[in-house]
Amino acid sequence: MKSPLDEAKESKELQAVHCMKCGKMLGKIEGKAEIKCTRCKTINAYHTKIDA
Ligand SMILES: [Zn+2]
Repeated sequence: MKSPLDEAKESKELQAVHCMKCGKMLGKIEGKAEIKCTRCKTINAYHTKIDA
C-alpha cells in the first residue's frame, strides 16, 4: 500500500523565483514565501500553488 505522503514527495517540485525588479534569482520555493532581494532590496512575495 502506498501512502499519500510518498506520492506528494515524488511530484513536488521547487519553483525558481526571480526578483521582479532586477531579475536576480532569489532561490527556489514551494508554497508561500517572501524574499528580500539582496541586490536591490525589493521584497518579493510569491505564492506558488501546485494543482494536480
Ligand atoms: Zn532585485
